[in-house]
Amino acid sequence: MSYTYDDQNIFAKILRGEIPNQTVLETEHTLAFNDIQPLAPVHVLVIPKGAYVNHDHFSSEASDAEIADFARATAEVCRIKGVSPGEGGNGFRAISNAGIDAVQEVPHFHLHILGGRPLGRMLSMAK
Ligand code: 5GP
Repeated sequence: MSYTYDDQNIFAKILRGEIPNQTVLETEHTLAFNDIQPLAPVHVLVIPKGAYVNHDHFSSEASDAEIADFARATAEVCRIKGVSPGEGGNGFRAISNAGIDAVQEVPHFHLHILGGRPLGRMLSMAK
């Protein structure tokens, strides 16, 4: 596997504090913040602080500590936002776009957490 990380991407700038964000949660290895163009009442982006391009890159090369921190932080974000079904919430969708077919816009791995309204089926049937 070979990925080249562009450290000028917008999330790298957010991590360096060059661009503001609405932080939902910050942990040792993870940052979660509100999406600037929310597609649902809850739309949070969860990102690792490490330089990973996409889910594939992160899952393959991040340390166990980074992966565990990311997973726990994601669960905590869902609790904070009130969408965790295990805490009485109505649920959420977690999406990660990778590469061209998925129309990934920002080349720093991020998980979209969407909720707060019925989200419909996972994918449109349109081709
Ligand atoms: P992708 O298409 O890469 O999966 O999603 C990128 C997401 O980043 C989009 O939902 C977009 O609204 C969000 N985004 C792009 N630029 C910024 C920014 O400067 N701040 C925040 N908070 N979100 C951003």
